[in-house]
Amino acid sequence: MKKRYLISPGPTPVPEEVLLEMAKPIMHHRTTQFSSIFAECAEGLKKLFKTSQPVITLASSGTGAMESAITNIFKPGDTVLVVNGGKFGERWGKIAQSYGLKVEWINVEWGQAVAVDAVEEALKKNRGISAVLTQGSETSTTVAHPVKEIAALTAGADTLTIVDGITSVGVVDMPMDQWGIDVLVTGSQKALMLPPGLAMISLSEKAWAKSQSCDIPHFYFDLAKERDNLAKDTTAYTPAVSLMIGLRQVLRMLFEEGLDNVYKRHDTLARAVRSGTAAMGLKPLAPLSPANSATGVYTPESVDGAKLVKDLRENYGVTFAGGQDHLKGKIVRIAHLGYFDSFDVIVALSALDMALAGQGHTMQMGRGVAAAQEILSERY
Ligand SMILES: *Cc1c(COP(=O)(O)O)cnc(C)c1O
Repeated sequence: MKKRYLISPGPTPVPEEVLLEMAKPIMHHRTTQFSSIFAECAEGLKKLFKTSQPVITLASSGTGAMESAITNIFKPGDTVLVVNGGKFGERWGKIAQSYGLKVEWINVEWGQAVAVDAVEEALKKNRGISAVLTQGSETSTTVAHPVKEIAALTAGADTLTIVDGITSVGVVDMPMDQWGIDVLVTGSQKALMLPPGLAMISLSEKAWAKSQSCDIPHFYFDLAKERDNLAKDTTAYTPAVSLMIGLRQVLRMLFEEGLDNVYKRHDTLARAVRSGTAAMGLKPLAPLSPANSATGVYTPESVDGAKLVKDLRENYGVTFAGGQDHLKGKIVRIAHLGYFDSFDVIVALSALDMALAGQGHTMQMGRGVAAAQEILSERY
């Protein structure tokens, strides 16, 4: 027998209360019964996004909402500024390019956050930029980008700030309206503690206004159509009924804990993992602007990172994420977002410690766990 632990930054574990809700018999979506669930989700998502605008839920993975942000707002030939500091930044640019937008890249070294000055300069140099596209947290490098500062640069101008908050919403406070974020996107399988399959998106008034001149064909991801249906507590097409029922439960759990406590929990877990991995002598991938969603660390020179991740999954039953592209085999990423608490962090650090020792990396075991315990004690 082997007990399995999921310590990857998506999909993340789903709480039992949510699994049980989703296991109930399927209901029809054109009913008052489903509409009331849908309405509760819509209200809850507005509270989570901290916006007065509708939050639209799509049946797709997170990338679907990213794509819909492009296809519902822009015209071919529009120029967007893309913060590219990892796989997901690159994805924004690729989506934009595939619909004929011109992309100006701000290339950021992997493991670093974009400099606000660099965004400001690029916006000054090219007055024709329609939008800045960024991640809140670049999951591939475990970096947090300065969203508040970027949004402040475009507030009051014609330019939009479009944020992929897929590993930020529900992890850190990212008040959409207060910060002047024009488009905020998230997905179900990260901080929202659900299986993959839902994506959420909200547009500011400024973004809705720009969407009026949109000239990119779209059919399934038609945000104005979904907004109009949402106003009637329904959807244009069949919603992911069971996932929506799960989402209602998740939102209830988040509000019961209190959003501030949710953010505090993520912050404590993140600090515990940073401190624990540092005590183990592991170099952080994102030392200066680490995300609270996941922590990437370099594996020791003598250790093959890809083999380590495989060993952890197959022999210890613990699934971590490795690195992508040039970081493949060089890092491990430890998630701490969503349905994570203190002892998930202990499991992660302890397993990592044992697997490293198993690969011949000698050090005194338990140092990482001890350092993490110091910080986790804050919670009790
Ligand atoms: C996971 C993730 C995505 C992609 O989501 P999918 O659900 O796989 O489409 C996009 N951006 C970030 C930052 C993510 O972490």
